[in-house]
Amino acid sequence: MDIEELIGTLDLGAKTRLLTGTDMWSLPALPRIGLGPLVMSDGPIGVRGERWSPGDPSIALPSPTALAATWDVELVRRAGRLLAQEARRKGVHVLLAPTLNLHRSPLGGRHFECFSEDPYLTGEIGAAYVEGVQGGGVAATPKHFVANDFETDRFTVNVTVGEGTLREVYLAPFERVVRAGAWALMSAYNAVNGTTMTEHRALQRDLLKDEWGFDGLVVSDWTAARSTEATADGGLDVAMPGPYGPWGAKLEAAVRDGRVAEEVVDDQVRRVLRLALRVGALRPDPGSPATLASTPGPASDPDPGPASASDPGPDPDPDPDPDPGPGTGLKVAPRTDGDVPIDGVALAREVAARSFTLLRNEGGLLPLEGVRSVALIGPAAAQPRIMGGGSAQVYPDRIVSPLEGLRGRGDVEVRHAPGTDPRVRLAPLAVPCRAVFLDAEGGLLGEHPLADAEARWVGRLPADVDADRLGAVEIRCTYTPEVTGSHVFSLAGAGAFAVRIGDEVIFDGFVTSPGGDPATAFLAPPEHRLTAALTSGVPVELRVRHLTAASGGMAFVSFSLGHAAPSPGDDATIAEAVATAAGADVAIVVVCTTPEVESEGFDRTDLALPGRQDELIARVARANPRTVVVVNAGSPVLMPWLEHVPAVLLTWFPGQEAGAALADVLFGDAEPGGRLPTTWPLRESDVPVLDVTPSDGEVAYREGLLIGYRAWERAGRVPAFWFGHGLGYTTWSYDSVAVTGTTVTVAVTNTGGRPGREIVQFYLAPPEQDPTRPARILAGFSAVDAAPGQTVITTVYLPERAFQVWTERGWRTVPGEHTVEVGRGVADPRLSATVTVTG
Ligand code: BGC
Repeated sequence: MDIEELIGTLDLGAKTRLLTGTDMWSLPALPRIGLGPLVMSDGPIGVRGERWSPGDPSIALPSPTALAATWDVELVRRAGRLLAQEARRKGVHVLLAPTLNLHRSPLGGRHFECFSEDPYLTGEIGAAYVEGVQGGGVAATPKHFVANDFETDRFTVNVTVGEGTLREVYLAPFERVVRAGAWALMSAYNAVNGTTMTEHRALQRDLLKDEWGFDGLVVSDWTAARSTEATADGGLDVAMPGPYGPWGAKLEAAVRDGRVAEEVVDDQVRRVLRLALRVGALRPDPGSPATLASTPGPASDPDPGPASASDPGPDPDPDPDPDPGPGTGLKVAPRTDGDVPIDGVALAREVAARSFTLLRNEGGLLPLEGVRSVALIGPAAAQPRIMGGGSAQVYPDRIVSPLEGLRGRGDVEVRHAPGTDPRVRLAPLAVPCRAVFLDAEGGLLGEHPLADAEARWVGRLPADVDADRLGAVEIRCTYTPEVTGSHVFSLAGAGAFAVRIGDEVIFDGFVTSPGGDPATAFLAPPEHRLTAALTSGVPVELRVRHLTAASGGMAFVSFSLGHAAPSPGDDATIAEAVATAAGADVAIVVVCTTPEVESEGFDRTDLALPGRQDELIARVARANPRTVVVVNAGSPVLMPWLEHVPAVLLTWFPGQEAGAALADVLFGDAEPGGRLPTTWPLRESDVPVLDVTPSDGEVAYREGLLIGYRAWERAGRVPAFWFGHGLGYTTWSYDSVAVTGTTVTVAVTNTGGRPGREIVQFYLAPPEQDPTRPARILAGFSAVDAAPGQTVITTVYLPERAFQVWTERGWRTVPGEHTVEVGRGVADPRLSATVTVTG
């Protein structure tokens, strides 16, 4: 039976029921037509699964800024394949990633979760990600369509932006991934030019579906569907999460009253079923392959029946047709590596090293050679920040800190001093704990181990807990203090809590949620500080009980017990760090942003490293001239100490293998492969586009096409480091360039003494300069590997779009002599040539 015939078997009620989630993460099953539940999960650095819980661990790759910093589409494709493997392991069919919004302002709270300030790099990395994930039989969901480039008032803000800017900048990466065959797309919270995106007919129906030919599913961002007719007519296909929402019976009634045409619902259902077929969640006829009417697609596995707990998830081999031909509407990325399992730990380490971006290396301090002792300083040395905050969070089952990574080498002595702690909120008490699930009478429903004193289940509870009887969740830990004195605890959570230390109840009350953005309330819940006098070596029992219930089997549990032991204070710990640095062959200072700085749900207020970290670096550098600063941040931070330290290595949010990759790069087992996907400012006041604060509910993208390096160039300002910058451990000569049509061929030679990898970048400048347009744009890049002395030839095909501008009459190719510059970043051209095109 084909999809059209299946739709014909459904009455209106059955059809509308398919369009809203049954819960936080899945769409309803309909066993009578062979449809299993379509399970969705965030994304982008791992696959969290349905539980949002440390009890359901995932491989954690580096942040998307890091992925983009690799400028390596093959590697990103492999990362996508790993994510598909993770998704299948967890029974997930739809990965809610990648994030394709742009680095318009470095203050954007989800900057770390987006790839780049450049639409072309974003599109290429995004397309590779989509191809990798979908090549593994799992849908990717590029998000958030469109202009969701900052977080302040994100549910309601209206972005005003001109059509040319939308087309050439913000829509461009989405257009690219649609061309790559994305099977789903997520519609954003915000409005664009006065229309909320989930209702935006011009962008979702006319442009995305009709003009670009997108045949996939448009899913709302979570709770972004807020109307019945306007969203259905506006091109939204599925409202998440469920089971409540603006559709269901309301949409059914709207169709019955003639307010929404039934064809609209049919098309929504068609897209749900098509997606289900693509990911192996729809198996209509046992024995005969399912088909899309007139659109031949991947044959489904004949094995019938929806996914179940014992089901390995989406069909691991849906046998996609790599090229179903023009007009079929089905574009399926070919699967190239069969089902050979990918080693997630090894890949996380490889991607991290490839992404690490060496910004400065005076005197060739790196890679470290002949070093016997290292002073490893800084708050992120033992507690790295491996990912940004928000829905991008996953729970890896191991994290390798820089301290563990360096100590793991065995051939250097590592002395550690944290120096200073920039966190405003306390980290959860770092001892193994238990979560105990209780019914309303205090009866035991189940227990679960916790890595620390944080309990989080958003969506499903552990399978052995009867969610319908849930009355309370309790964190229980045994803690043996190392220091006598006044310990500070923080209860982080909203709702009713009781905290007991030993026999004493030190808190029993209600903590009110700050309101506003529910994600913020959940990700950064209010903190309630408590103190207790504890004695070194004397264990204490700690219990935090939270009264909570589940609804429709879905729980919303999110609370923790933070802790800080008595500390001698920052003055003393900084002095200790400086003394440690002074006596070592080299000092490595690992600094970071905090969850209060980089997260979903809010924007940054400034670009400074939080706390006293700048001071720590400056003082360590004075004590040891051989100081390497390792910046563990997902987006730009100011570096007032830059001229005073010989080496700066940017590790982004490096994922779970942070420290292993750091040791590889510092000691030269791997070359730092990264190039900046975003311009790095020296001073905040220099940043051409900073504003993320709505005025009268609106943010106007007045700068038009000029964001990122395009804006810096036009403003005549010089950043700390330009887009595309990044050093390796060898040197390169750019030998020759040749142009045939729009194909550019370049020869480069590794002139250093080590094997290396170079990212050859191609920037295109138009025949005539127009101050409202970029002076040049990235139009191609290519990664080459070469042995010492080896010359490598690389060829790129400059895309047609690079020669085009958006006009009132559509795309227009700018005729004439364009200049292509080839080099090591936008500000470091080495060769140039002319490319002539006709209009
Ligand atoms: C985020 C999305 C995410 C969704 C589900 C939203 O708040 O904006 O990126 O996929 O939640 O977690």
